[in-house]
Amino acid sequence: MRVHHLRCGTMCPFARRLITGEGGLLERGELVCHVLLVEAPGGLVLVDTGFGTDDLRDPATRLGPVRHLLQPTYAPAETARAQIEALGLDPADVRHIVLTHLDLDHAGGLSDFPAARVHLLADEQGAALAPPTAAERSRYRSAQWAHGPDWRPYAPKGEPWKGFACVRDLDGLPPEILLVPLTGHTRGHAAVAVETEGGWLLHCGDAYFFRGDVAPRPWCPPGLRLFQRASAWDWERMVENQARLRELRSAAPDVQLFSAHDPVELAALAARARAA
Ligand SMILES: [Zn+2]
Repeated sequence: MRVHHLRCGTMCPFARRLITGEGGLLERGELVCHVLLVEAPGGLVLVDTGFGTDDLRDPATRLGPVRHLLQPTYAPAETARAQIEALGLDPADVRHIVLTHLDLDHAGGLSDFPAARVHLLADEQGAALAPPTAAERSRYRSAQWAHGPDWRPYAPKGEPWKGFACVRDLDGLPPEILLVPLTGHTRGHAAVAVETEGGWLLHCGDAYFFRGDVAPRPWCPPGLRLFQRASAWDWERMVENQARLRELRSAAPDVQLFSAHDPVELAALAARARAA
């Protein structure tokens, strides 16, 4: 299975030094939306979607007030749909989308692929479609799934994978793609593992935001740390999961893990995939 690492959105929040750990306070930081495009035997598979065409057309409705904090660049060429076309592939061949969670910077592209099956943890679908708390009511943007996706929700039970529980057998997907429940950022957040010829890729979504979070001596720029904490549904669980990811990183060199938002990780993995 060929895997492409796509940048399906760029966000440039204020105070670069507090977000990236370098540069000035008056400069803009840079966060990306790291999306995987998998050329699987039965069609194309996306892992997360980043921002979509409709988000760019109507950011006020689709993204809401938080867009002023995130400062997306709204680049039409960065949507998954545009990049799939640029690769000479057909967006209609996207049969499956596997989601880490339904926050607006991950789910915006769903409506560009209305025929795809959308795989996610049932708790995440529940939190987004019928939010149990005020915080969850304000974080999700129902306009992003007003088209009525073909949802495939899963209970978080399954078999072990590298010391984590996982859900394999996703409806219609090969066994090389699996959901790894990692709740904390949201109620039903998951990582997505993809087995390739070069080993496993683990898309950690927003289980961590900065490559230093999973370094042997963890460190994260203070502004980004604050944002991680403020946006977490369960911060303690998120901290526990970051410790487990650090252990995985040292114990399993065949697993390449990455965050949805770290531009340095995305650049390195995209270059490696192009060279392969
Ligand atoms: Zn995110």
